[in-house]
Amino acid sequence: MTILSVEALQKSFRGVPAVRGVSFAVGAGEMLALIGPNGAGKSTCFNMLNGQLRPDAGRVRLSERDIAGLSPRAVCRLGVGRTFQITATFASMTVRENVQMALLSHRQRIFRFWRPAGGQFVGEARALLSQVGMAAQAERAAGVLAYGDLKRLELAMALAGDPRLLLMDEPTAGMAPAERTALMALTRQLATERHLAVLFTEHDMDVVFGVADRILVLHQGELIAEGDAARVRADARVREVYLGSGATSGGH
Ligand code: ADP
Ligand code: MG
Repeated sequence: MTILSVEALQKSFRGVPAVRGVSFAVGAGEMLALIGPNGAGKSTCFNMLNGQLRPDAGRVRLSERDIAGLSPRAVCRLGVGRTFQITATFASMTVRENVQMALLSHRQRIFRFWRPAGGQFVGEARALLSQVGMAAQAERAAGVLAYGDLKRLELAMALAGDPRLLLMDEPTAGMAPAERTALMALTRQLATERHLAVLFTEHDMDVVFGVADRILVLHQGELIAEGDAARVRADARVREVYLGSGATSGGH
């Protein structure tokens, strides 16, 4: 079942094209990687999908609904989740309270900074933390977590909105290779269990080829290849403009 479909998406900044006629679809339970060198247009694509940027042209359909140009909040409400960044405010709260806040926020309850979450959604917060392997750390302050655990908490907070599509723009930035593999393997498992469509970017090609069902390769705003790991690896144009550049890390 197709969750997201994008047609001829287009965006320029001050007349300079950043995304040029990008079309693709992602289905329930599918992990789709969007890769390409720095400046290829990956983040611009993500920002047009989550409502931060309005496309100049093209369509963004979530299930059958056109969501291009809707506000980030409206897009989120329709089932597009993204990994949260834990702010300083939330660092002093416990891991469980952070998930409770995410549940409260998604369900439109009154959001009181001075009286965090209270007793609401305790059970649901614990259940989400179990799903990301964080049950044992539920009562610790978020601010003391190791980086990899913080990323798992961010994932639990994204899941609090019960998304159909999860957008992850460089979710493993700053992580050690083993942690990257672990976080993306967890995401893979959640995608399968929850029939969640996941679109992600990742610099580490071993992680991408290991976890993605399908890979899109973006170069100078255009999709130049699409397929499974074997197909993308073997693609002459990809080798030439991307993998063949000698970089294994997508370019920094
Ligand atoms: P990626 O995420 O693949 O590294 P980006 O989508 O961030 O690529 O950038 C694509 C191109 O668009 C780059 O040339 C970048 O400089 C440009 N760009 C991105 N965002 C803006 C912006 N807000 N204003 C002007 N130019 C931008
Ligand atoms: Mg980017």
